[in-house]
Amino acid sequence: MCGLPGPGTNEYSTEGWKVLGARTMQFNPSTTPAGLANVASSLQGALDAWAGADARAPRLTATTGSTTTSPVADHQDEAMFGALGSTTLSETFTWTWSDGDVESDIVLNASAAWFQAPSEGSGCYQVAAYDVQDVLAHETGHLYGLGHAPNSPYNTMYPTATTGETYKRSLASGDSLGINSIY
Ligand SMILES: [Zn+2]
Repeated sequence: MCGLPGPGTNEYSTEGWKVLGARTMQFNPSTTPAGLANVASSLQGALDAWAGADARAPRLTATTGSTTTSPVADHQDEAMFGALGSTTLSETFTWTWSDGDVESDIVLNASAAWFQAPSEGSGCYQVAAYDVQDVLAHETGHLYGLGHAPNSPYNTMYPTATTGETYKRSLASGDSLGINSIY
């Protein structure tokens, strides 16, 4: 379970890719676990945190068009709850195509316990489940080209999450510096 967040740091790393223009990311609503609703809205909140930190970063619009249940290289950004290894909470799969297109699919582990906090609040809810938008904020950072900040537990790009935390929904200084270094 989480505790109240401390300060972030200026740490960031980059993956070497960038989003080249406005795109849509299609969530598959049929994969939504029981108890969750309107995950596309959580996804939009996560995307907006990054776009709001860098005026040059392309805008991504979350929709519900997808019927995909596993990541597939098809030039379409897609998000879903699906099968991942038991120790992996979420994963972003990115393909850089020879024509310059960059595609990312995000998988949230359907076997994990999830909830949707009503807001970031104090940064930590006493709930034994993972906040969907908190985890999506981290994964959409990968989509925008950010790597991990392994020494900064309160940065969005810290590689692990704890149940109840919501503080990754808002970016730390290093996360903002990172996206501004890319776009
Ligand atoms: Zn990560």
